[in-house]
Amino acid sequence: MPESYDAVVIGAGVFGAWTAYHLRASGRSVALLDAYGPANSRASSGDETRVLRMGYGADEIYTRWAMRSRRLWMELFAAAAQPELFQQSGVLWAPTPGDRRAVETRAAFEKCGVAFQELTAAELRARYPQIRFASERFGVFEPEGGVLLARKGVQQVVRAAIRNGVDYFKAAASAPDGGRVTASSGQVLEAGLYVYACGPWLPKIFPQLLEGRIRPTRQEVFYFGTRAGDRTFAPEQMPVWLDFSDDRCPYALPDVESRGFKLAFDRHGPAFDPDSGDRLATGLTAARAFLAERFPALAEAPLVESRVCQYENTSNGDFLIDRHPEFDNVWLAGGGSGHGFKHGPAVGEYLSKLIDGLVPPEPRFSLATKLREAERTVF
Ligand SMILES: Cc1cc2nc3c(=O)[nH]c(=O)nc-3n(C[C@H](O)[C@H](O)[C@H](O)COP(=O)(O)OP(=O)(O)OC[C@H]3O[C@@H](n4cnc5c(N)ncnc54)[C@H](O)[C@@H]3O)c2cc1C
Repeated sequence: MPESYDAVVIGAGVFGAWTAYHLRASGRSVALLDAYGPANSRASSGDETRVLRMGYGADEIYTRWAMRSRRLWMELFAAAAQPELFQQSGVLWAPTPGDRRAVETRAAFEKCGVAFQELTAAELRARYPQIRFASERFGVFEPEGGVLLARKGVQQVVRAAIRNGVDYFKAAASAPDGGRVTASSGQVLEAGLYVYACGPWLPKIFPQLLEGRIRPTRQEVFYFGTRAGDRTFAPEQMPVWLDFSDDRCPYALPDVESRGFKLAFDRHGPAFDPDSGDRLATGLTAARAFLAERFPALAEAPLVESRVCQYENTSNGDFLIDRHPEFDNVWLAGGGSGHGFKHGPAVGEYLSKLIDGLVPPEPRFSLATKLREAERTVF
């Protein structure tokens, strides 16, 4: 006998978990499925930490969504008595003078009411002696930004959704077939609507539609051990740091939960298969050389952990949140493109309201804007 729901959400990463949460809040009966478990080690949402920043240059929609999401994350964590799942370390941008993106970011902050401070080169050096600023730089500091504990955060969303009445199953779902979805457990699920929030797996489930439109790339992340008792790289003294004036697009996160100082590069890696891709990091030498250059106190720091994750890139970095062109009751939510995590609450809220006709569709998230030629504009 098929099980019936108003909505079935496939994928319990950050997009699917928040979508199930919001669909349930809209009064629907909801089932949530994940093939490997919420924020599992293969999922894009599965790492320890993710940056929450409001700065997006001229892409103000993401500034607003990050502000809204920050509030929803904090409400959820407060309700779960786990406020530490967001660490408000602040976020430091250190662009070169005259950087266009920095000018646009400040304008968006002023327009949207995001708190920020500007720091001169001398102030940067005095405030952050642990960072070596490559060339002449100034600082734009977002005091309300910080670090989300990603894996634990998603698991908390799923717990809250289950408490509110969502049925969660660990099972892989088929593509929609005659108005039904069959799970690897043998369950057959019937629903008024299906949301596929399968991150980097979306092109595997809908190859004709999405291959080339969502391109998973291999991304490496390194955690380095700080000296015994050292607080210099902990959130009280070390903010999130991003340097998009450097071609390698490096960024670093403070030593949250004593897992180590996290360093990664935002430029896209090679194509990657989220099921079978090898997850042994290979870029340690380059990461270490970078540390010696910019965080000299960590030049000899031991590697305590590394991860290989994947971005699920759209052509320009805008999300995909749209109806499937062939099935009226099937929706797609993905294309986080290396910056989607923080926005999970706003993605779920938007999709739930979009389905109910309460908000107009945002053209930037449409399938029609997702091309097969990559030209990244959103960072
Ligand atoms: C190294 C790295 C650093 C990043 N840094 C940041 C950052 O600092 N800030 C930020 O905001 N974002 C960041 N991102 C981006 C962000 O993590 C992703 O955009 C986001 O996690 C994507 O979430 P998702 O729910 O779309 O996908 P996922 O988290 O991958 O979830 C998809 C889920 O679908 C499930 N699934 C797949 N197929 C099926 C099926 N057939 N049936 C059932 N379940 C299925 C999978 O098991 C998985 O759990 C980063 C990403 C990476 C890789």
